[in-house]
Amino acid sequence: MSSKITLVGAGLVGSLLSIFLAKKGQQVEVFERRPDFRKIGAVGGRSINLALSDRGWRALKEAGIEQEIKEIALPMRGRMMHNPEGKLTFQPYGKENQAIYSVSRAALNEILMNTAEKKHNVKFNFNQSCQNVDIRETKATFENQENKNKIQKPLKSEIIIGADGAFSAVRGHMQKTPLFNYTQYYLPHGYKELHIPANEDGTHKLAVDALHIWPRHSFMLIALPNTDGSFTCTLFLPFESDKGNKEAFERLNTDKEIMSFFETHFADVIPIMPTLLDDFKQNPTSSLVTIRCSPWAYEGNVCLIGDASHAIVPFYGQGMNSGFEDCFYFNEIMKKQLEKNDSINWKQLFVDFQDQRITNTNAIADLAIQNFIEMRDRVADPEFLLRKKIEAKLYEKFPNRWIPQYTMVTFSHLPYSYALKVGKKQDEIMKKIMKKENLEATWESLDWEEIVEQLHQNV
Ligand SMILES: Cc1cc2nc3c(=O)[nH]c(=O)nc-3n(C[C@H](O)[C@H](O)[C@H](O)COP(=O)(O)OP(=O)(O)OC[C@H]3O[C@@H](n4cnc5c(N)ncnc54)[C@H](O)[C@@H]3O)c2cc1C
Repeated sequence: MSSKITLVGAGLVGSLLSIFLAKKGQQVEVFERRPDFRKIGAVGGRSINLALSDRGWRALKEAGIEQEIKEIALPMRGRMMHNPEGKLTFQPYGKENQAIYSVSRAALNEILMNTAEKKHNVKFNFNQSCQNVDIRETKATFENQENKNKIQKPLKSEIIIGADGAFSAVRGHMQKTPLFNYTQYYLPHGYKELHIPANEDGTHKLAVDALHIWPRHSFMLIALPNTDGSFTCTLFLPFESDKGNKEAFERLNTDKEIMSFFETHFADVIPIMPTLLDDFKQNPTSSLVTIRCSPWAYEGNVCLIGDASHAIVPFYGQGMNSGFEDCFYFNEIMKKQLEKNDSINWKQLFVDFQDQRITNTNAIADLAIQNFIEMRDRVADPEFLLRKKIEAKLYEKFPNRWIPQYTMVTFSHLPYSYALKVGKKQDEIMKKIMKKENLEATWESLDWEEIVEQLHQNV
């Protein structure tokens, strides 16, 4: 038996979930606030490209679209570090065949929507902004963005799913119910997108198979490749210049201030960013927020998914990946129920879904903040590089007993909470090892077995 589902938000997670729901025979109506970007061109909003890794791939494979996405994805095999003098250092992310993939948000979203729309039981409605949700009556009201005076009647369905992102309207209405907990935490940093165009012959101006990082302690610039030969860059910088931060967005107002900032910290990008000043002045400075809430569902009526239930900062490249992993597990739970029954028990599904996910999404929220410090501050540090070398050796010798935290998060399906817990223990062990004298010269003769034993004593 199928249910009538109202799905709010046709972003990455909402569109993928609609495919899984449709495959299970549900009647899905998707309501999206924005116009259909496939008809009008570019998609506005955050980050033009994203890093897709194993958790995301597994969900896309399950949805049957892995191959189609592979065609628009560029492998990034490691970090390319740019020091202030323009010297480059490459650090592989994992083993030789391991990579994260740069994909265009718009192209990915388009494939997801097209795949969903091919199903007879999914209908997309654009320019429909969710304004109100009666969670007890399962009614949602939408405002037509093309004609705001047109009053629309509340739409009744059996289930409402909020996949409407970090500032979810659906969550906003759940927040009014007793015992709903919610926190939001803004980083003092904001971000701004910049652009490195392709060479005249369409080739990339920087190595294409890397995620480029210019770490500068309290701030950093990163660049991900696009298939058209360009790179999308993101500058992460404090908004304000307090607490010892000399450099901040609030100090970059005039052409002179902007250019002098880039000349001091990122001199090597100036020649390859011909529209730097225009981009800097025209592109918005956006904020970075971590959102946690609980419970994710109200009875068997309403459920949140993706950023609507757990928005995180982008420094582990896991926001979309964890949202796709949500869809994967949501689908697994549907499958299990349908093996035993004809219809889905939504209330039980929502409970099982949250039980499966919330500890893990809280863990990746912590890991993402932790990785910001690593990316902007530590990746350029010789001690950190030595530590990475030692951990890589441990992983090579004991592939099942010492898996580096980055590998657990990015190249495995181990629960994020496990990666957080084991990573903390690894950190304690590595801190002690790093204190050893003359380690740079002697590290290859460490007692590897003993190190791994320490990890498994208390985990
Ligand atoms: C700078 C930056 C870089 C990032 N990089 C990465 C990365 O490399 N890898 C990664 O995995 N993740 C990354 N992320 C995170 C990723 O963008 C999000 O986790 C992902 O987009 C979440 O998908 P979603 O569908 O849940 O929400 P969204 O993508 O926000 O989609 C929500 C949809 O709901 C619609 N909507 C909102 N309100 C309403 C309403 N009231 N009514 C109807 N529709 C509504 C929106 O228009 C939107 O289409 C990054 C994020 C940022 C900010």
